[in-house]
Amino acid sequence: MLVGVPKEIKNHEYRVGLTPAAVKEFVAHGHKVIVEVDAGSAIGFSNEMYIEAGAEIIGTAEEIFAQADMIVKVKEPQPNECKMLREGQTLYTYLHLAPDPTQTQLLVESGATCIAYETVTDARGGLPLLAPMSEVAGRMAVQAGAHYLEKAHGGSGTLLGGVPGVAPGKVLVIGGGVVGTNAAKMAIGLGADVTILDRSLPRLRELDDIFGNQLKTVYSTVDAIEHYSSKADLVVGAVLIPGAAAPKLLNTAHIAQMKQGSVLVDVAIDQGGCFETSRATTHQDPVYIVDGVVHYCVANMPGGVARTSTMALNNATLPFGLALANKGPKRAMLENPHLLNGLNVHKGKVTYSAVMDALGEQL
Ligand code: NAD
Repeated sequence: MLVGVPKEIKNHEYRVGLTPAAVKEFVAHGHKVIVEVDAGSAIGFSNEMYIEAGAEIIGTAEEIFAQADMIVKVKEPQPNECKMLREGQTLYTYLHLAPDPTQTQLLVESGATCIAYETVTDARGGLPLLAPMSEVAGRMAVQAGAHYLEKAHGGSGTLLGGVPGVAPGKVLVIGGGVVGTNAAKMAIGLGADVTILDRSLPRLRELDDIFGNQLKTVYSTVDAIEHYSSKADLVVGAVLIPGAAAPKLLNTAHIAQMKQGSVLVDVAIDQGGCFETSRATTHQDPVYIVDGVVHYCVANMPGGVARTSTMALNNATLPFGLALANKGPKRAMLENPHLLNGLNVHKGKVTYSAVMDALGEQL
């Protein structure tokens, strides 16, 4: 199969669909890979590294889309990319179609086979191609929180780890899934005093088994959220209710009661945010202050560490990508129902029920 990797064109998107190491895997399996010039240069994957891995460097995205049997990307295709797709071609990338009728319509019109990373499943009911980005965002949440707790960045001037003779800062993590677990791990690593809330008792048991008495696990109620947030130096919002907007767990009045210079990191902002005062921000302008509380609400946190994120994403996408190339998309998906769950658009039709439920009437 001829696999094509265009350079990402979304504003400030530096990730790339395949690393040189992933290219080498495709080549080792007998495939040909074409990569757009400078597709990975911004994150240290030079054209020479791709050539060494066995890829051919191509000058324009138009040539990549015209030649490749399968396009491997990171972000959803932009309108001019959608228009270059065609029937018989496979697109393998994040799509997030449900809130995006324009992109969905363009992909339907293309006739291409479009597989969305975010809906591929695994045997444990998880989303294996979304999990790496949640791991990244969870770990970053504490790094960002620690940064903005510094006085010069608007915070209270608290060091999360404390020092001998001075108590550590208090971190509250709301939601103990992939993001929350990774945030807790980082906060514990820094020596902070960490409490995690979740509404799932099985999940709290697992967290207790993993972290023992380094982590306080508390059942998530309105009362617990109010109590622990009023004492926290850093609150990480990491809840998810699948298929729904994030619940507002802290309202404006609660936030006004928090410590001056404390920091809220709302990782759930991509689902609307779990604090009433949250609004999406960018890596260029990541924070704002409400009632003395610093808000960090960057909607695409993994983009800030594009090199690590690209490698983490490739680790997860590579096995499915190789199956698509080795067996052909049809056989690969018929043999693996989890990969088939990734199929969102095929030959002019939406094939994913949640997208149809959200957009059916608009298409
Ligand atoms: P997950 O499903 O692994 O975990 C979510 C957890 O929230 C679950 O354990 C669930 O029981 C818990 N929960 C639900 N309601 C709760 C409540 N009221 N109180 C306490 N806990 C509650 O999801 P995840 O992968 O950890 O993702 C968490 C959020 O982070 C999602 O909204 C996701 O979209 C978002 N995310 C954002 C970025 C970003 O860049 N901003 C990146 C990755 C993920």
